[in-house]
Amino acid sequence: TKNVYQFHEGNASMKSLLGGKGANLAEMVKLGLPVPPGFTITTVACMDYLKNDEIFTETLKKEILNALTDLEVQHGQKFNDQENPLLLSVRSGAVFSMPGMMDTILNLGLNDQTVEVLANKTGDARFAYDCYRRLLQMFGNVVYGIDGNRFEQYLDYLKNQKGYQLDTELTAEDLKQVILSYKNIYEEVLQLSFPQDPKEQLFLAIEAVFKSWNNHRANIYRNLHDIPHDLGTAVNIQTMVFGNSGDNSGTGVAFTRNPATGSKEVFGEFLINAQGEDVVAGVRTPEPLIKLHRILPEVYQEFQAIAQLLENHYQDMQDIEFTIESGKLYLLQTRNGKRTARASFQVAHDLAVEGLITKEQALMRLEPAMIDQLLHPVFTVEALNSAELVAKGLPASPGAATGHVVFDTKQAKSRVEQGEPVILVRQETSPEDVEAMSISEAIVTSRGGMTSHAAVVARGLGTCCVAGCSELEVNETTRQIRYEEGVIREGDIISVDGSQGKIFLGQLETEKNEESQVFQEIMTWADDAANLKVRANAETPQEIRTAIEFGAIGIGLARTEHMFFEGPRLREMRRLILAGTRDKRQDPLAILLGMQTSDFEAIFKETLDKPIVIRLLDPPLHEFLPHTKEETETLAKNLELDSDYLTARISELHETNPMLGHRGCRLGVTFPEIYEMQVEAIIRSACHLKTEGITVSPEIMIPLVGVKAELDQLKERLIKRIEAVLAEENEQVSYTIGTMIELPRACLIADQLAEEAAFFSFGTNDLTQMTYGYSRDDAGKFIPYYQKTKVLENDPFQEVDEEGVGQLMALAVKLGRQTKPDLKIGVCGEVGGNPKSIAFFEKIGLNYVSCSPYRVPIARLAVAQSAI
Ligand code: ADP
Ligand code: MG
Ligand code: MG
Repeated sequence: TKNVYQFHEGNASMKSLLGGKGANLAEMVKLGLPVPPGFTITTVACMDYLKNDEIFTETLKKEILNALTDLEVQHGQKFNDQENPLLLSVRSGAVFSMPGMMDTILNLGLNDQTVEVLANKTGDARFAYDCYRRLLQMFGNVVYGIDGNRFEQYLDYLKNQKGYQLDTELTAEDLKQVILSYKNIYEEVLQLSFPQDPKEQLFLAIEAVFKSWNNHRANIYRNLHDIPHDLGTAVNIQTMVFGNSGDNSGTGVAFTRNPATGSKEVFGEFLINAQGEDVVAGVRTPEPLIKLHRILPEVYQEFQAIAQLLENHYQDMQDIEFTIESGKLYLLQTRNGKRTARASFQVAHDLAVEGLITKEQALMRLEPAMIDQLLHPVFTVEALNSAELVAKGLPASPGAATGHVVFDTKQAKSRVEQGEPVILVRQETSPEDVEAMSISEAIVTSRGGMTSHAAVVARGLGTCCVAGCSELEVNETTRQIRYEEGVIREGDIISVDGSQGKIFLGQLETEKNEESQVFQEIMTWADDAANLKVRANAETPQEIRTAIEFGAIGIGLARTEHMFFEGPRLREMRRLILAGTRDKRQDPLAILLGMQTSDFEAIFKETLDKPIVIRLLDPPLHEFLPHTKEETETLAKNLELDSDYLTARISELHETNPMLGHRGCRLGVTFPEIYEMQVEAIIRSACHLKTEGITVSPEIMIPLVGVKAELDQLKERLIKRIEAVLAEENEQVSYTIGTMIELPRACLIADQLAEEAAFFSFGTNDLTQMTYGYSRDDAGKFIPYYQKTKVLENDPFQEVDEEGVGQLMALAVKLGRQTKPDLKIGVCGEVGGNPKSIAFFEKIGLNYVSCSPYRVPIARLAVAQSAI
């Protein structure tokens, strides 16, 4: 096989063989752009070398020497030549750009003799010695691993001694002294001298680049970015051009568009009389590119034209490195430029509008997760750089917020009343904390996973949340949080980054990204391209409004729990549960009915004619009961019950595994009055709205069905009640009754369930819990460890487990549609908004996904991508 390619033999499509840098250098040569000639040693040669006990084979050496000879002929220079010596750069270049991971050596080919030739030839000894000392420094560092500081320290020492500020003030004589001292560093550290033979330099440099693929930094970077370890790096050997050869020379980097905002303007920096890394190294402050217009107007014009040409050619914003030698422009690198979320949207949008790419291509270039950054405030980069990290947990709900630590609703309310922002910190949250959660800037829990109560509620509220932060020891009684380095007390100020899952001490500055015109436009392109529809999980009028603003076509899951917990409702629900007889249940039922009828009216006024799935009551009974003795006594007084009787009744209702116990439709079957009351409230409010000219078509969903008879019996009862209400109201309301699919058994008998169900909606949170047998409230304790030790690749509560849970889902879809070919099927668990899961849902033929309101835009982009 061929291991070495001249630049003119390659092209941009050969990235896996030539690396990104090499392939793009070849492409630029093909485009006829001014690129210093050179050749590329392939990634395959690198991997062969590494796998082969790091033996530099004779065949490879020969190929390199042949390429070198070609280069010498082509370029009219020769290694070690006494008149016109060839000088090279040796540049690593992996398939994926790994910035700063592996280093570049410049000016290779210089030695004690050629440096003098260069000095004579250019008439500039200072320049020649400067190149040589740079080579000594880079070579020592990259090839021999000598700490770069050793060299820098000496340079600083000398500058200090001479009273200089800048490197450029060093004279030729000074630099001669630097060279001598650098050589001494070699002797001191390695007991060897800098190799004078350019070919030896070249082979050592190539080997060093090969080896750098396996260095520690590179390994860490690849792990962090999911880059495979067996790709290897290419090595680019290129003739040098000199940006440090006077005031007509310079070096710089530029983006064809602004990488922060995406606006269409070439954006870059340069330094006159400088080489290589000087621009990024911060030694001197670079000038904005526009200044080049004044200094070298022709070069500036040429660069502008080339930048445009490259952008058109690659159909994307380019990040370009260039050097000017004595007024002549050379290109040294081009690649697709990294950019902020905001710039990504702007650039993709503009390129499509300019006709360079299609709308579909524009959509495919956007990372759905980036939308988080656009919709939520973020901490500024400067703030994060100096921030003190307290702990890391799960990034449960995005956003960034600062506030005073509180531990319960009372504290939260009193501080908020005084105008202080608060952050609720708890071991875990329960429905009783919802009020405090709704007025907090952020929520932090030390237990629970991505689908814990805190996480789900926070996402619904659009409040930032870090869950399962097990490094924090939260004590709600002493009102203290212990962490490794200290203690945080009630009232202390902390900052929470819900997108990263991080907690910081003190106040950090945030910045808000505005939802732009461009963003809106891209979202409409997405809707045009999509098959799957996007609904939202939302139940309060406020959440529903947010969801619709974000573009949800309807509601995929309106939970009704809050209608039993909020305000005076809990008391009535408790009376209902504790009533011993059917008779005694009538009064609380009537009160709940009244309240819930107006609840539904408020909801329907937001959804209007959009589809809405309403789930009947789901949680286990015990959530409605008092938990402490004190609470039990208060309740007994309040309900005028004997406290012993109440205690006995509560212990009767106690369950060992409430999540597997008396909940969902099991509650519906055993206390049918509750579901009957709920459907009555739904239908009555629909009837009321009809008189106002609003037509709603509720989709009523029965949760946790595992046996067909559950569905049969409940459906019969509910229809009976609904028809009675309609007759009484003398109205027509079109409604459907469907079921949640969230038990493995339900998936297996989906053909039977489809006989009665008008629709299915997968509840992936419970389905995942039940399929794995992982309690979703406790999984936060071991799933992170499982991921770290590779037992699990992903958290199945965040990304659907395709091979297990997904298989059950696919089966349920198949069986369900066997019975009813046009059965409407959706998904409403947390994974409903996960882009990778969405691609899977598209594949198994669902009709819609439903997710929390703030994820709706992410899902809209993801459903478009899965359709394209
Ligand atoms: P990185 O991957 O870190 O950007 P590069 O291989 O692009 O490393 O090299 C860094 C810098 O070195 C370039 O931006 C350029 O300024 C300089 N450089 C590389 N090759 C040459 C060359 N042939 N002539 C002049 N300068 C070069
Ligand atoms: Mg570098
Ligand atoms: Mg570069």
